[in-house]
Amino acid sequence: MKNKLFTILIGLAMVAAILPAYKVKAEETGHKHCICGAQHTEKGDHVSDTQTEYSTRLYMKDGKLMMGDGEWETRETALTPYVSYDAYSLESGNYYLDTDLEFSYELIEMPVLFIDGDVNLCLNGHSIILASSQSSVIEVIKGKSLTLTDCKGGGNISHKGIYSAGHGITTAGTFNMYGGNITNNFTFGVTNNIADKANNGGGVFIEPNCTMNMYGGTITNNKAVSGKDSSTGEAIEGHGGGVYVSKDSEFNMYGGEISGNKSNLTGGGVYNLGTMTVSGDAKISGNGKNSRNYSNAYMGERGTLTIGGKLTGKIGVSKYDSKVGDVVVTGADADTDYSAIFFSDNFNFDVKHDGNNIVLIPHTHVLGEWKHNGILHWHECEVCSKVLDDAEHTWDEGVITKEPTTDAEGEKTFTCDVCKATKTEAIDKLPVVNDEIQDGSNNSQDTDVSDKNQNNGTTGEQNNDTSAITSPETGDKMNLVLWIALLAVSTSTVIGTAVVKRKTI
Ligand SMILES: [Zn+2]
Ligand SMILES: [Zn+2]
Ligand SMILES: [Zn+2]
Ligand SMILES: [Zn+2]
Repeated sequence: MKNKLFTILIGLAMVAAILPAYKVKAEETGHKHCICGAQHTEKGDHVSDTQTEYSTRLYMKDGKLMMGDGEWETRETALTPYVSYDAYSLESGNYYLDTDLEFSYELIEMPVLFIDGDVNLCLNGHSIILASSQSSVIEVIKGKSLTLTDCKGGGNISHKGIYSAGHGITTAGTFNMYGGNITNNFTFGVTNNIADKANNGGGVFIEPNCTMNMYGGTITNNKAVSGKDSSTGEAIEGHGGGVYVSKDSEFNMYGGEISGNKSNLTGGGVYNLGTMTVSGDAKISGNGKNSRNYSNAYMGERGTLTIGGKLTGKIGVSKYDSKVGDVVVTGADADTDYSAIFFSDNFNFDVKHDGNNIVLIPHTHVLGEWKHNGILHWHECEVCSKVLDDAEHTWDEGVITKEPTTDAEGEKTFTCDVCKATKTEAIDKLPVVNDEIQDGSNNSQDTDVSDKNQNNGTTGEQNNDTSAITSPETGDKMNLVLWIALLAVSTSTVIGTAVVKRKTI
């Protein structure tokens, strides 16, 4: 009860805080909410309300980037004690977007926006877009931090345009994500060095010894894709379409969603060489690569995945050098049912909850209904899509499902003993009793067009006397016999009949 009252009071306080903020927005005094966004909820280790005045406005005016009341000037930004650039950067403070920001940066392979302090940034429903450059949209400098939220929703961190590639965000410090959508970024390496940053981490690249905390927001439709090594011509392999976690780094996912990302090797969603924890409603699913294996959260060599608390999300897992019995997830609660939460991305295995671990067990194919075409039947595993026990139909003797008459063909239906598929074959029209047809070797030449149509295309032709072979239609008839022979072997009658009929036209 006390908690409820507290929440209501906070809610009222927030409404009170937000309402005047919107009123005075024209006066550019910013707006106020918790660092997690407009509605405070406890997310992972973020349990207390942190009301923050997002006071410095970032926006575009007449195609120029603006900060506060003036033009946003680039300034010298030190990446290391020895390397510095003249760049757009944000020092410690609380910022919000008032329009989309579009950077079209002239310096290729240089991040566009450096975080050079402890920065709280609210997208406020707007996007930061990088057009025409091969670099990250945002880079958090070593030892600094970015806390990203989006109190309105709908804001993106994206690349735009065909000449624009690179990570959404790289962090050499700490990146806290409460909101926003990191989307449509892709890495495209030029050397086949697996550790090359340029190959990996389409959405977010976490440098060694750094941390990302994801409390909310989404990382979707980013890619770590292949290129060709310019010197060797070898294909380049990308890892971590959504997020790449370097060695000795931490990725704590308390919520949010990583989906629709791709890599051409491992870790379509997340490639982890460090320490990863998941809790809350963390979702890592629906990420893919060509072969569909290893597509969601992939634990590279020495990468670990631990359940950090109550977990309700959905997470596909796989790991380096897998064997039956390997632990893929630790920190499980013995009494919790994780069967709807974790699934195996490596189709040689299934996952099973065993005490405090989730372990790999051999994959058992899940067979659905028989599938079939005109020739074969088979099963397909509903999990791994593997085609199993494919074989030719074994047709029964068939039953007449439509009696033939002198005017119309009949129909015989055959059923496969195994899969119960059916096929039909036409039964010839009943012959018109006619003495003339029985004798003369020249009759076939005498019959009119309609008689010809009637005779051809029916198995009844076989009963014709040998004199027919000398007739001008010999060629067709020989083909017909061949067709009948073929039909008897395996081909579908539907095709056979269609071909025979076409020949008569
Ligand atoms: Zn909060
Ligand atoms: Zn806001
Ligand atoms: Zn299977
Ligand atoms: Zn069958």
